[in-house]
Amino acid sequence: MIPFNKASVTDREEKYVLEALRSSKLCGDGPFTKKCHQWFEQKLNCPKALLTPSCTHSLEMAAILIDLKPGDEVIMPSFTFVSTANAFVLRGAKIVFVDIRPDTMNIDEKLIEAAITQKTRAIVPVHYAGVACEMDEINRIAKKHHLYVIEDAAQGMMSTYKGKALGTLGDIGAYSFHETKNYTSGGEGGLTIINNPEFAHRAEIIREKGTNRSQFFRGMVDKYSWVDIGSSYLPSEIQAAFLYAQLERSEEINRNRLQTWNEYYTNLEPLQQKGYIELPVVPENCQHNAHMFYLKVENLETRTKLINVLKENGISAAFHYVPLHSSSAGTALSRFYGQDKYTTSESERILRMPIWTGLNEENQLKQIFKTLNSFFG
Ligand SMILES: *Cc1c(COP(=O)(O)O)cnc(C)c1O
Repeated sequence: MIPFNKASVTDREEKYVLEALRSSKLCGDGPFTKKCHQWFEQKLNCPKALLTPSCTHSLEMAAILIDLKPGDEVIMPSFTFVSTANAFVLRGAKIVFVDIRPDTMNIDEKLIEAAITQKTRAIVPVHYAGVACEMDEINRIAKKHHLYVIEDAAQGMMSTYKGKALGTLGDIGAYSFHETKNYTSGGEGGLTIINNPEFAHRAEIIREKGTNRSQFFRGMVDKYSWVDIGSSYLPSEIQAAFLYAQLERSEEINRNRLQTWNEYYTNLEPLQQKGYIELPVVPENCQHNAHMFYLKVENLETRTKLINVLKENGISAAFHYVPLHSSSAGTALSRFYGQDKYTTSESERILRMPIWTGLNEENQLKQIFKTLNSFFG
């Protein structure tokens, strides 16, 4: 069976994880965490990058940082993972969904402004498949209406928009290092990216259980104590050690995935030309990271048939998301502004093909192309 996903693993994780183990310094913010922070701050050119246990936690940190109050509204797409909404719901916010663009499956920037009310506090663009949202326009709207922009860049590490890294375009960004993403910190993990310097100091406090412990360790205060609300948003050194190995190999992993993605695209183009499928669209300003390779078929019925045929041929393909506004929690905690022209219909057509680091080396792509060609032929 060709798996849908395999975690990226290089030749260095074992060495670094063992090193962390033997150092007997296992809790958060040890040497490997510091190395990761430095790597990101340099690579992303941001005032502060903080490892967290997951992207979900990073989004929760963001919701605390912008001081959301019950009743505040946050605008986002409904075609996303539950954590994008949950993080803000936990602060008492109401989620307002707007429709997506059918080309990139990202929030339709043209629909955002009409959804803004007196209660709106933030816009949360989700960079689906590591392809950027139209950030210039989103930032323009946010600035005009005094809103924060929090990027759910869970899938976006190594992707850029007009040359700038995803996650560094809004006030706060969030990456995921879950094993299904391009880079992992041993199964679970995340990163909070602070771009608006106004949040840099408080982000450290919230992450350290609401204490000024980070300042204490830097010798800036002579004791540490409870100074704010907060939680435990630090991953262990084992996770940081695992991730650091992947950061050192990040270019290689990225190249490998892009090669697979390009092979998919070239080999499936004839099926698109014949009108059987639609292939992903990457706007000119965007460099993507091959997080995902998806295709769109005519409708739900064709997708169900195709998934079964792929399965019979040893290929696991997957779909997502159940649009949040039509989920059971979503109906109570959110509203959809405007018409659902594309969110539901496009989510029923999308099919995600296997993609992982090393897939192109194992000659399994041929089997996938053969199966797809015979299904449509
Ligand atoms: C994976 C993902 C998340 C959650 O990431 P975790 O690290 O598992 O918490 C959030 N948003 C999007 C868009 C994702 O793809």
